[in-house]
Amino acid sequence: MHEKTFFDKYELISSSNDFRGQFNVTIDKVCKFCLKTSKENTFKNIPHVIPELLGKNNYTSNDECDSCNKLFGAYETDLSNYISPYQTLIGQKTKSKIPIFQSRKDSAEKSTTIKYIDGKPNINFNNNLVDFHYDYTNKLISMNLKKKKFIPLNVYKSLVKIGLSLCPRNELEDYKKTIEWLAKNDSESEIVYDIPLNLYRTRFANKYYDKPFASLYKRRFEIANNKYEPKLSLVVCSGVLVFQLFIPFCTETENINYKEYQLVNDLYPAFLHNLDFKGEEKIEIHPSQLPIIKYDMNYSAQVEADEIIHFKYEKLESIK
Ligand SMILES: [Zn+2]
Repeated sequence: MHEKTFFDKYELISSSNDFRGQFNVTIDKVCKFCLKTSKENTFKNIPHVIPELLGKNNYTSNDECDSCNKLFGAYETDLSNYISPYQTLIGQKTKSKIPIFQSRKDSAEKSTTIKYIDGKPNINFNNNLVDFHYDYTNKLISMNLKKKKFIPLNVYKSLVKIGLSLCPRNELEDYKKTIEWLAKNDSESEIVYDIPLNLYRTRFANKYYDKPFASLYKRRFEIANNKYEPKLSLVVCSGVLVFQLFIPFCTETENINYKEYQLVNDLYPAFLHNLDFKGEEKIEIHPSQLPIIKYDMNYSAQVEADEIIHFKYEKLESIK
């Protein structure tokens, strides 16, 4: 008997591919979040189920009114700062152009900037030499890139919003409290969550996704006594990053404190996308060695975080 994996426990119920070019101005609509109709609210903006800051795309929806679109869009700056500087490094377009990365400045110093020119990232580190480290023996350059500040809770909310955008209306019935939580842009600390707000991240070394995509998975069975897996799990891929998270406040668990339960988080094996399979080669990795990093996003103040990126080089040349 083999140990149950993510795919034994979860089935795919929706993905961004189902939304390709869906936006239609001529039909009558009902917003899936506030339940207002096109008679009550306008539906003029084109809502993307994956915000374009995660990569240019045409995954659009007919289920979101302009007010909700604006309300939930408020978290996107935090998401954008959080996922920098990868789009610039790989040259991924967001709306119409590749973003320029500018690092957070600690004092009067100049930012490190990365601009994508002629198919290559151009890095200007000004006077921030301390952020660069050469390892001559292993031919490695390590860069410490200081991201602009972001609020972890807002990053989590903007990702949950992607999950709800993908979520079929009948399933959304169980997530009314999640919608209320998203709609309130405040930092109540008294909230009792049914699951911890963990974000799991895999970073590829050899590959990247040109276009973002997102998939929503549903648990295949009922919860057992004192033990449960969250019902919905979202996977979002953008560039070299793959995120996985679980959607909080499902009605089946909304009144329980997760600390009193044995919570099982099954992880989507995103790292497999980074490997090149040869034939029938079998890969066995123990769960404790998965190259997946867990972040606790339940924090509502701005944080400073850095990304450390390693490059291999062939030859170093100095230029005048
Ligand atoms: Zn609405």
